[in-house]
Amino acid sequence: MDKVDVVIIGAGPSGAIAAALLLKRGYQVQIFEKMQFPRFVIGESLLPHCMNILIEAGMLDAVNQAGFQLKNGATFSCGERSSAFDFAKKSSAGYASTFQVQRDQFDLLLAKEAEKMGAKIAYQYEVTGLDLEKNPIVHYLDVNKKAHQIEAKFVLDASGYGRVLPRLLDLELPSDLPVREAIFTHVVDQITDTNYDRNKILISILPENTQVWYWIIPFSNGCCSLGVVAPPDILQQWGQNPLEKLQEAVKQNPPLSHLLQQAHYDRPVQVITGYSSNVKSLYGKGYALLGNAGEFLDPVFSSGVTIAMQSASLVAPLVDKTLQGQIINWQKEYTEPLMKGVDTFRAFVNAWYDERLQDIVLHPEPNDKIKAMLCSVLAGYAWDESNPYVQEAESRLDVLAQLCRSDMT
Ligand code: FAD
Repeated sequence: MDKVDVVIIGAGPSGAIAAALLLKRGYQVQIFEKMQFPRFVIGESLLPHCMNILIEAGMLDAVNQAGFQLKNGATFSCGERSSAFDFAKKSSAGYASTFQVQRDQFDLLLAKEAEKMGAKIAYQYEVTGLDLEKNPIVHYLDVNKKAHQIEAKFVLDASGYGRVLPRLLDLELPSDLPVREAIFTHVVDQITDTNYDRNKILISILPENTQVWYWIIPFSNGCCSLGVVAPPDILQQWGQNPLEKLQEAVKQNPPLSHLLQQAHYDRPVQVITGYSSNVKSLYGKGYALLGNAGEFLDPVFSSGVTIAMQSASLVAPLVDKTLQGQIINWQKEYTEPLMKGVDTFRAFVNAWYDERLQDIVLHPEPNDKIKAMLCSVLAGYAWDESNPYVQEAESRLDVLAQLCRSDMT
């Protein structure tokens, strides 16, 4: 049987970054990737904190040179009200801008960089099983669906929505978040409004139903990612098929509809229902879960790729120590540090859907100091414990929403 130091399941951002960080430490890495790259995946709006991890992985130069659309902030709108967050005004140290990326190109680029560093990537190879008795034995199907096995010293599950180890090892846990549906595509946007800022993601709330929100993520090629998130029963009423539903959803939001009046819908429209997921544990003997293979919250703050990269950055030194024979307290050294940021985003997501955060971000006269702290979280610095909105996210958001609301009355 073949042997390797580390098997990584999936070549998305968490898999590619983890591979790079382990290769830097001198380990052999075999990635199995079910699809042929480039492949479509949703999640195009990065957060500036990603740039710090791309540097750590030695991939930032390649990303900088790829010609992706600059991203320097986020704009929130609801009807005629609108408010922009400029990442340059964040309170945390670190990068203040990033990119809006077509994920097929971005993920291919990261995977190629990992290959240049020495990762072996087997595309169209699907992991189907794992034995954990001594060293982990990974079962996989090759491109011709022929079954094989390989022995690894450690296995990282970076399979994202594939959730390979949660399914195989009975680790799945339902998310606490309610089922929501996302419908999305890429359009040739033809936005001519000169006030429109292509360097920011636009998050637009439907005034008649604040559970419904839309994203526009412009790319550098004249297209944008366009999506709507809503409770499934609402989208049900808006058409027979995904394209009709998305177009009707846009029609319901006049400012957005105006912005996209000349847009061409020439790509398939996709639907994901019930995307939030959780697990009983992020680790076990001989394996750990990264990115979306662990917990996924919600797309509203574009936190998915950042959390995926952060998990890879945290896991690499722990795998290194484990393979050197050191005993690691995975709960204290992996789960708890990773969850610090995930829990910050959780508080923000919950406050978004119960409208506290919508009232906060749309407040017409925000306090600059507080806005800088919120901006840091929106820029992905959700692990910066010097920020009160990280340290005590839930209670701080609560108080701030009350202040904003009393101001408005
Ligand atoms: P993935 O990117 O999903 O990569 C996993 C890889 O594993 C895939 O290539 C897959 O083919 C492979 N794989 C699966 N099963 C197997 C198997 N059995 N064997 C081998 N390989 C396998 N995040 C953001 O940061 N910004 C956004 O704007 C954003 N928008 C989103 C919008 C929506 C509607 C949703 C649902 C999510 C959004 N996300 C966003 C989240 C983002 O999509 C994910 O968090 C991110 O892609 C996770 O990266 P990953 O590396 O964990 O997994």
